[in-house]
Amino acid sequence: MRTRLRICKKKQNYATREAAILAIEQSNLILRPYKCDRCFQFHLTSRTKGKWMSKPQ
Ligand SMILES: [Zn+2]
Repeated sequence: MRTRLRICKKKQNYATREAAILAIEQSNLILRPYKCDRCFQFHLTSRTKGKWMSKPQ
């Protein structure tokens, strides 16, 4: 999935996956880090179904 530039600019970015995971832990929200193909840093997404989880039910 490609990241829209508009979304990229709006989102918080993290230089490393570890930084993104730390932010998730501090937020107490169910989020997932993903690598952005626009800025090559990590963003967080609240999408936890479908594309982000490849396990079939
Ligand atoms: Zn980005």
